[in-house]
Amino acid sequence: MNKPLASVSLDVDNLWSYMKIHGDERWRARPSYLDMFIPYMLEVLERLNLKITFFIVGVDAAEERNGNALRSIVAAGHEVGNHSFEHEPWLHLYTREQLWREIQLADEAIESASGQKPVGFRGPGFSWYPELLSVLEERGHGFDASTLPTYLGPLARTYYFWTSKLSAEEREQRKELFGKFSDGFRPVKPYYWQLSNGRKLLEIPVTTTPVIKTPFHFSYLVYLAKFSEPLMHAYLRTAVTACRMTGTEPSFLLHPLDVIGGDQVPELKFFPGMDVPSARKTALLEKVLRVLGRSFDLVPMGVHARRIKAGAQLPIRKAA
Ligand SMILES: [Zn+2]
Repeated sequence: MNKPLASVSLDVDNLWSYMKIHGDERWRARPSYLDMFIPYMLEVLERLNLKITFFIVGVDAAEERNGNALRSIVAAGHEVGNHSFEHEPWLHLYTREQLWREIQLADEAIESASGQKPVGFRGPGFSWYPELLSVLEERGHGFDASTLPTYLGPLARTYYFWTSKLSAEEREQRKELFGKFSDGFRPVKPYYWQLSNGRKLLEIPVTTTPVIKTPFHFSYLVYLAKFSEPLMHAYLRTAVTACRMTGTEPSFLLHPLDVIGGDQVPELKFFPGMDVPSARKTALLEKVLRVLGRSFDLVPMGVHARRIKAGAQLPIRKAA
C-alpha cells in the first residue's frame, strides 16, 4: 500500500532577516549566508534523497550575489516558493496595492534568479491577512502555506519581545507576530479558503500535532532535543501517530537555523537553539527526516498541493 504524503519545505530566512527581527541595525547591509547555507543544505537533502520546497525572500533573489545559490536549488530538482519580498511580518498593515506589489516583486525576482516560477506562498512570521489570499489566487499561486494552527503563538511572541531590543513602535508593528490564540482553532488539515471574488484558494497549514495543536516543526524538535533526545523522539512519535490516526498528511517546516549553529554564524548566537553546534543539528535533522520518511512519502509542496486537489473534497472556510 502507498504511504500517505507529507510535504517538506524550508523558509530561506537570511542572516539579515534574523538581525532585523531582533532590532540589530546592521541588517541594513543585508548580510547573507546563502552561499554557505544553500550548498550545505543541498548536500543534506541529497544524502536523504529528498526533494523539498524552498520558500525564498524576494530581496535575496534580487541580489546578484545570491544567483548561483538560488539556481543550484532548481538544478538539484527542488521547488521554489514565494516568502514575500521584504520579509516584514506585518503584512496585515499593507494596503491591497502594497500586497500586490510585494507578491509580484518577489515572484518576478525569484523566477528570474532561479529560473522557476514560485509554486505557492508562505508569509513571514506566520503573518496572514484575508486580502492577501485573493492577491495570491489572482497571481496564479496554487496554495497558501502561511497558517500555523497553534494556541502557542502569543507565548512565542512574549518570549521574542522579552529577548529582543525593540522600540514601542516596533512592538506595535509586530503585535500579531506568530499569530493569535484563536489561530489554534484553525484546522490542521488542508482546506479551501472561499475568496470574496467567488474563487477558492488551497490552504496547506504548517502541521501542528492534531488535537493538541502543539508545533512539531524542526526548530521545536531541536529545542526539545536540547533537554533530551529521547524526549524529542517520543514527542515526534506521538505527533506522527496522531497524524496517522487522524488521516493528516503533514506539512513539515524547516529553517536555516535548523542546521546552522552559533559556531558558523556568531552574529546569531543569541537565538534559541544556536548553542547547539551545526554538526549535531544536522545529524538530528537527518534522523527526524528518516523517521518521517518511514511513515510518509516526503514530497515538495507543489506535488502535495496537486495531490490534495485531485483527492477527496475539502472543507471550505470563509476568508473574513
Ligand atoms: Zn521567514
